[in-house]
Amino acid sequence: MGYKVITENVNNILRQLSKDYLIYAPKVFEGDGRFSDTDTIRYGEISEIEEIVFDKKSEYSFKEILLPISETLFYFTEDNAVVPEGPKKGAIIFLRSCDLHGLKRMDQIYLNNGPEDFYYKRLRENTRFILMGCSHTFDNCFCVDMHSNKSDNYDAYIDVDGDYTYFDCKWDELASLIEKEGNVTCEVTPKYVESNKVNVNIPENLSGKVFNSKVWDEYTSRCIACGRCNFVCPTCTCFTMQDITYKENKNSGERRRVWASCMVDGYTDMAGGITFRKPNGERMRFKVMHKVYDYKKRFGYNMCVGCGRCDDVCPEYISFSNCINKLEDAVKEVE
Ligand code: SF4
Ligand code: SF4
Repeated sequence: MGYKVITENVNNILRQLSKDYLIYAPKVFEGDGRFSDTDTIRYGEISEIEEIVFDKKSEYSFKEILLPISETLFYFTEDNAVVPEGPKKGAIIFLRSCDLHGLKRMDQIYLNNGPEDFYYKRLRENTRFILMGCSHTFDNCFCVDMHSNKSDNYDAYIDVDGDYTYFDCKWDELASLIEKEGNVTCEVTPKYVESNKVNVNIPENLSGKVFNSKVWDEYTSRCIACGRCNFVCPTCTCFTMQDITYKENKNSGERRRVWASCMVDGYTDMAGGITFRKPNGERMRFKVMHKVYDYKKRFGYNMCVGCGRCDDVCPEYISFSNCINKLEDAVKEVE
């Protein structure tokens, strides 16, 4: 059902929702940017519609709400382990179409790839998703070629247009709050982009043979293995384990899972001092092939959703989309 709401009244709706939900959206973090005196846009809790950044891309994705950067799995003592309670409130996340497609990838890994992940599931099942439309493409996006520019699996869609805000609502709880504000029903169709400035071509005949191409060598010298490309990516879901012991009693402490990344040192370290993929070019190869080849072989669709954030944040100006576009020549080279 579509609604036209006076924008001034939207905060009343958010206030009602905040009794049962924490509300997250892309917002400005002043002074937190990469360079001095610059801001960053990333996910944080909001209480008013004016805090949400609709006209720019967020530097980080929403994934840290469902997959915290550091999460305590249990506390332990000598003879006991206790799982921390989940959050008391549910969550509402404002996000774009590419990120909603990213959610499908997170669900695939944490819910549909063997046993369900208890921690992810308890956050995920109490979360609602509100789609923010895209009226234009942002730099480095290639969502159209990755088929993630459109979504319809949202709980609600929102479009703030000056004095009026439009909703397409599939969520009864939100619909009844909107109706209490006495609003007009109308047809609302999500905005989405039909073309990007960046295009990618994933060769049909891509195969594991491309692992032997020289295309990856360039990245050994250019990439500094900082892992930023993984941390901003809505589809990177790897973590590592850390046991923290307390000073007072070394037999008590907590086990945490913490984001990890295939691009950084230590990710592939194994017992016996073995490490795979030491050259950074090999790590790039692993990442790229996982995003546009291996995952698809297993699940039937590509992992990358074309949000372009990895290109946005790389301090070495390494472009993931350019790398994809080199694959056609790389296939010819190895064939
Ligand atoms: S690989 Fe890059 S473009 Fe693809 S989903 Fe991850 S951050 Fe976005
Ligand atoms: S952000 Fe750039 S430099 Fe850092 S690991 Fe990724 S590709 Fe390498």
